Amino acid sequence: AVERGGGELAGGGRFAHAAMLRRDRYGDLMEYVESLLQLIGNTPLVRLNRSLDLPADGPLVLAKVEYLNPGGSVKDRIATRMIEAAEESGALQPGGTIVEPTSGNTGVGLAMVAQQKGYKCIFVCPDKVSEDKRNVLKAYGAEVVVCPTAVAPEHPDSYYNVSDRLASQPGAWKPDQYSNPHNPRSHYEETGPELWRQTEGRITHFVAGVGTGGTISGIGRYLKEQNAGVQVIGADPAGSVYSGGTGRPYLVEGVGEDFWPETYDRGVADRIIEVSDADSFAFTRRLAREEQMLVGGSSGMAAFAARQLAQELAAEGKNDAVIVVLLPDSGRGYLSKVFNDDWLAQYGFSTGQPRPAQTVGEV
Ligand code: PMP
Repeated sequence: AVERGGGELAGGGRFAHAAMLRRDRYGDLMEYVESLLQLIGNTPLVRLNRSLDLPADGPLVLAKVEYLNPGGSVKDRIATRMIEAAEESGALQPGGTIVEPTSGNTGVGLAMVAQQKGYKCIFVCPDKVSEDKRNVLKAYGAEVVVCPTAVAPEHPDSYYNVSDRLASQPGAWKPDQYSNPHNPRSHYEETGPELWRQTEGRITHFVAGVGTGGTISGIGRYLKEQNAGVQVIGADPAGSVYSGGTGRPYLVEGVGEDFWPETYDRGVADRIIEVSDADSFAFTRRLAREEQMLVGGSSGMAAFAARQLAQELAAEGKNDAVIVVLLPDSGRGYLSKVFNDDWLAQYGFSTGQPRPAQTVGEV
């Protein structure tokens, strides 16, 4: 009989998962998974090279490439963990409905996991959210309720009131990624241990952007428990509260806040590096051209901070540093923004100069 679950062989590594090996009725081993959800996590580390402008013997900078998760972002991890915890606690019952005010990556993760497990999903989003983003959620079978942006938060049709009303219906459950402890916990229990194992405990610095703070808080706490000397660095858009701002608007999406979420551990970061929109977007474009990594603006922001850190460490002669920077999502969701020259130009940002053609060395 075909064996299910478990797995046959300790393969190790992303591409030879024990979970992927199944013995068929003739006893042959085949490599496949029963469900896409088994492919969440265990994302690879990829070395950044040209875009760092470092000397050849400079610090090692590794990117944790989260767009390789099946839903395309780091948020697949928290979606799974928050849903499983709600199933265990009974907050989410069979056939229940997940209600969350989100239009971004968390929505995709929740929609994917919910559909697989047979829950209904309703996402509430403001009318400024692009049709493409809404259609992604609908493609996974979710319902999207659009609320007017031009009303006060206390108005019955406001984004906040509509989601609260839907979440108070019988059978409904609201994950609330800004206060749900399973958001940072998923990173404490999974992403942090992955990084420790992948670097064989040699990681010296961890860099991540901060939105809900789940990523940096969970991973940072885990790494510091393994080695108190690991430095945790937050990258933050200029204007956001994490870098001392007032919540003044910025354009990079998914990071920075105008309030302090419960999911952010205010003691975890040793340092916050503030990055301007201009630097975030210019570096996002460089990552695509020079590292072939098509990532979103928050990845460009975090990688820019990691580059600054690596250059400082190189200048101090600390070339044995091992820096890991987490890249949360793919650039596919931002083709009409970061990767659109007209959009960048409209805000006065540089579209970046193409690198001069490389001279082919001696062969
Ligand atoms: N980048 C993107 C694109 C995101 O959607 C998020 C989540 N808001 C983050 C970064 C920040 O991650 P976290 O919420 O764990 O701080």
